[in-house]
Amino acid sequence: MSLLDPFLGPTRIAYLSMEIALRPDIPTYSGGLGVLAGDTVRSCADLELPMVFVTLASRDGYLRQFIGADGGQIDAPDPWSPERHATALDAAVAVRIEGRPVWIRPWLYLHTCPHGGSAPVILLDTRLEENAPGDRGITDRLYGGDEVLRLKQEAVLGIGGERMLRALGFEIRTWHLNEGHAALAPLSLLARHRIGDDRPAAGPLRYDPDPVRAACVFTTHTPVEAGHDRFSYDLVARLLGDFFEIEQLRLVAGPDELNMTRLALNLSGWVNGVAARHAQTARGMFPGYRIRAVTNGVHVPTWTSPPFARLFQSVTPEWAHDPDVLSRMDRLPDDAIWQAHEEAKAALIDEVQHRCGVTLRQDHPIIVFSRRMTGYKRPDLLFTDPDRLRRIAAALPFQVVLAGKAHPRDEGGKALIRELHAQARAMADSVPVAFLPNYEMGLAKIMVAGADLWLNTPMPPLEASGTSGMKAALNGVPQLSVLDGWWIEAWEEGVTGWAIGGDGSRPEEHAADLYAKLEDVVLPLWHHDRPGWTRLMKAAIARIGSRFHSQRMMRRYASEAYLR
Ligand SMILES: *Cc1c(COP(=O)(O)O)cnc(C)c1O
Repeated sequence: MSLLDPFLGPTRIAYLSMEIALRPDIPTYSGGLGVLAGDTVRSCADLELPMVFVTLASRDGYLRQFIGADGGQIDAPDPWSPERHATALDAAVAVRIEGRPVWIRPWLYLHTCPHGGSAPVILLDTRLEENAPGDRGITDRLYGGDEVLRLKQEAVLGIGGERMLRALGFEIRTWHLNEGHAALAPLSLLARHRIGDDRPAAGPLRYDPDPVRAACVFTTHTPVEAGHDRFSYDLVARLLGDFFEIEQLRLVAGPDELNMTRLALNLSGWVNGVAARHAQTARGMFPGYRIRAVTNGVHVPTWTSPPFARLFQSVTPEWAHDPDVLSRMDRLPDDAIWQAHEEAKAALIDEVQHRCGVTLRQDHPIIVFSRRMTGYKRPDLLFTDPDRLRRIAAALPFQVVLAGKAHPRDEGGKALIRELHAQARAMADSVPVAFLPNYEMGLAKIMVAGADLWLNTPMPPLEASGTSGMKAALNGVPQLSVLDGWWIEAWEEGVTGWAIGGDGSRPEEHAADLYAKLEDVVLPLWHHDRPGWTRLMKAAIARIGSRFHSQRMMRRYASEAYLR
C-alpha cells in the first residue's frame, strides 16, 4: 500500500503552484506567492479539504542570500534533499521538450495538522538518469535561468503536473492555478477535448473549452502588464513542437505571443484577484473577464509567535483551529498583551545581535520593513530624507530592522540592498538600523512578532495583496502602510493601524506623509500613551487576525470556486 492511497479516492481538487513554502528547511519558494501556497496547504489540512498540491522539487531552492563587505547581495544556491523530507512515488510521466522526452518523477511530501488532517504535496523532479544531462536540471532552481528555462519549468508544472496526477490515479474535477505559471495545465486538459479534424488549423477553435472552463479556477496575482509571463510563439514552437498547434494556441493565449495570464483567463471558468482593489485593477487590465476578489489570508498557528500562542490558548484552545475566535482577544488584559510582546521583541533583538552584531534596545520601538527587495516595494522610502529622520529620532527614538532578497537578475533590487546598507552606516550615530540577511519563513516569523510597528510602502496599485502585515497583526503589531492591497480592507485609522497618505494620493508625497504620521501620531503614542498603544495591539489581533486568515480564504474558495 502506498502513502498516497488514502488520498486517491476522495481527492477532487488539484492546486498547482510554481512555489510552495512547506517549511523553513524546504526552500521551494521565493516569497509571498509561495508562502500563500504553503498557508493554503496548511489550511487545507486543517479543514480536511480533498485537495492535492503540485509544485516543482526545486532541489537548489531559490537563493541563499549573503551580504558582502560592500553591502551588496551575494546569492548562492539553497540546496535541499527531497530524499530526506519526502517519499519517492512509483510513477513517471514525460513531456516532450525540444523534441526529447523529459521524464518527471514525483516526490510526496505529506503535511499533517495537529488535529490529524493532512494534505499531500507532489514535487515534480527531472533530475533523473533517464533524462539527457541538459534536461536533468530543469526543476532544480526556482525562477533560475532565462525565459527558455522558465518555459520548460512551466511545461513541467502545467503539462507534467496534469499528466502526473492522472498517472498517480487521481480523478481531479477542479484545477486551481495559483498564478499564470500553471496555465499550461488547462491547455493540457484542452488538448484532450478535440472536436474533429476537419476544420483548418487557422480557423475557429477545434477544441471544446467548456469542460476545461468548468474545471479550472485561476487566481491572478500580478497587477502590472509587464509582470505577466509571455513567450514568443517561435520559442513555444521550438520547445513544445506540435504539443498544441500554434495557430490554435493563438486563439486562446493571445494573437502575438503566448501570454500565460490570458491563457489562464480564457480557460478558467472562475477567476479571482487577491484583494478587492487588486481585482478592480485586474478588471481594468483585462476587460471582458469576470474577475472576482478573494482576499488573501495567513495561516494563524504558523504565524503566531509562542508567547501569543500561549496567551490565545489561555482564552480558548480553539484559536488555532477556528481563528474567527480571535475576535475575542480584545478582552485580554493590557499587561498580558504587553508582556507577550516584550518576549517576542526580545527574541527579535537576540536574532539581530546574533546575525549582524547590532545591539537594539528593548525600551525603544522597532520599526520593521521586510519584503522582496524590488523597486515597487520602495524599501528606501523611509530614508528619503535622512536629516528629517534624525530629527524625529532625536525627540522620539526608534530603531529599524530590514530584510529581504532581490531576484538575482533584479539589478534595481540589488542596488536598493546596497543603498540600505549605506543608509544604515550613515545613520548609525542616531538611528540604529540593522539588515538581516537571508529573509525566509523562519526569520519572518521572528520579525513579524518582534516588531513594534510594521511598515509597508509599495507604490500603488502594485501590491496585489501583501500578507506580511496580516502576520504582524496576529502578534499584536499595528501597521503603518500606504493604502494598497489588503490594507484598504483592514485599515481603520488609529484603530488597527495607520495610512500613509490617502487613497489615491500622489506617490511623491508618501515620504512626507510617512514622516508626518511617524512624528505626530505613531511615535508619540508609543512613547507617551502605553494604554492607547496597547488598544491598537488588541484591535490588530481582534479585528485583523480574526478575518485575514487562510481558513476564511479557503472556505471561500471551497464554497464559491470549487463547488460551483
Ligand atoms: C509572508 C512572507 C512574504 C510575503 O510578504 P509580502 O511582501 O507582505 O507579500 C515574503 N517572504 C516571506 C519569507 C514571508 O514569510
